[in-house]
Amino acid sequence: VAGSVLGDLRRALPGITVAAPQAHHLHDVGSELRGIRGSSSAVILPRDAEQVQEAVACCYARDLPIVSRGGGSGLAGGAVPEGGAVVLDLSGLDRFRSFEPEQLRMHVEAGVRTSEVQRRARENGLLFPPDPGAAEQSTIGGNVATNAGGPHAFRYGSTGAWVNEIEAVIANGERIVVGGPSRKWVEGLDLKSLLVGSEGVLGVITAIRLRLAPAPEAAFPVVAVFASEQEGCAAVQGLVASGIACSVLDFADADAFGPLRDSLGAESVPAGFLLLMEVDGSASEASLLRQELLESVAATAVWTFAPLDQGGIRSLWRWRDEMSMRLASIYGGKVSEDIVVPVERLGEAIAGVRQIGRRLGLQTACWGHAGDGNLHAALFAADADADQLALARSGGGEVLAMSRDLGAGLSGEHGIGLFKREAMESTTPPPLAALLHGVRAAFDPKGLFNPGKVLP
Ligand SMILES: Cc1cc2nc3c(=O)[nH]c(=O)nc-3n(C[C@H](O)[C@H](O)[C@H](O)COP(=O)(O)OP(=O)(O)OC[C@H]3O[C@@H](n4cnc5c(N)ncnc54)[C@H](O)[C@@H]3O)c2cc1C
Repeated sequence: VAGSVLGDLRRALPGITVAAPQAHHLHDVGSELRGIRGSSSAVILPRDAEQVQEAVACCYARDLPIVSRGGGSGLAGGAVPEGGAVVLDLSGLDRFRSFEPEQLRMHVEAGVRTSEVQRRARENGLLFPPDPGAAEQSTIGGNVATNAGGPHAFRYGSTGAWVNEIEAVIANGERIVVGGPSRKWVEGLDLKSLLVGSEGVLGVITAIRLRLAPAPEAAFPVVAVFASEQEGCAAVQGLVASGIACSVLDFADADAFGPLRDSLGAESVPAGFLLLMEVDGSASEASLLRQELLESVAATAVWTFAPLDQGGIRSLWRWRDEMSMRLASIYGGKVSEDIVVPVERLGEAIAGVRQIGRRLGLQTACWGHAGDGNLHAALFAADADADQLALARSGGGEVLAMSRDLGAGLSGEHGIGLFKREAMESTTPPPLAALLHGVRAAFDPKGLFNPGKVLP
């Protein structure tokens, strides 16, 4: 069947590249970590929005499921094709349609790499604040489709906060534009916000108008380590309430910080609870805020570290960026759930994850965005063998159930994708589920965009 779909699409789309799927089209980073691989009959590689329209119209007429793929850096299995679905690889939509630094905005195609958006902004004295951790691999379309966050979302918001307009291709290959070039836009229902975080189930995002900010002159990080989780979580609450304008308020629990202490020059510091904060602004504002931060944690922290030189700052961020990968190489195969709790319940959530791990005999570690109550709760399979991974996956399910009990959300930034659909299924009230399906049907009556994902 795969062969005949491929041949048929090649004949029907003569001006567009249609290829047999390569290995990387069958997984994203999250599914690779879990040892899961999909199946696809064909990959379509459009070069622009018109070709996306043609490709979608062609698949829609043939009732072929379509999975949009950005950089494949997703952690929820959202871009994994199932049951032979057609992959729409959007990496060819890589142009800047316009860049107007003086208007603080750019208009980019969906396949532009996140790092490229950030770089163009930076080179012009501007800032695109969303900073999800795989910026070299992820695309801006994927960031919008997952409403990606990152450390700086604490102050600046997730990707959606920086989107003025979205162009998308929906059922039958129709192209719609929602929002506009201006920062404000209230016109009918807010379909732009519906597309933000829609994970490919409403249509294919082809271009985005982004809002930018003037780049701050200086940004200084401050690390504080507390002897216990209780003291650390109390410090988080104190900082949130203090009004000190932190742009980052990240954490790592003892299981995450402990094994990585030496590479931070903190080998003799207790493996307690770590906070990584950042403040920014003009050079004088940022140094004043840095001092305030240091003073506010001085009474309870057992260790602080606040580099001022660019080399020291860069290596601290590199240490943070590599945390997830290094923990996996120390502890084994990783199943990570990205839950989000009210910030005052952060300590309970971390303790709950540890308890689940102990009961299953699995190592756990939590880190992430404390100020947003957003935990990356990881369960590790020591041998990375199939049984251990299955156990870790079932532990992940328990973490999601626990998070609901804490009045929490199933995902703060990675999305529902494939892996959290069952949890959506079991925890979404029926009227809400019906509404979600109704909205989806308005964009995609045949249910062909990323079927089997996201929705209960
Ligand atoms: C090391 C590492 C660190 C990470 N750190 C963070 C972090 O700090 N914060 C965070 O939020 N995420 C993080 N992520 C997850 C990931 O980078 C984000 O989810 C990212 O937004 C995915 O973008 P992508 O282009 O790779 O999308 P993909 O993985 O290709 O796709 C993700 C989902 O979006 C859909 N999609 C992609 N493009 C489109 C489009 N144009 N139109 C419609 N649907 C589309 C796909 O169908 C899929 O459902 C991290 C991942 C890694 C590997």
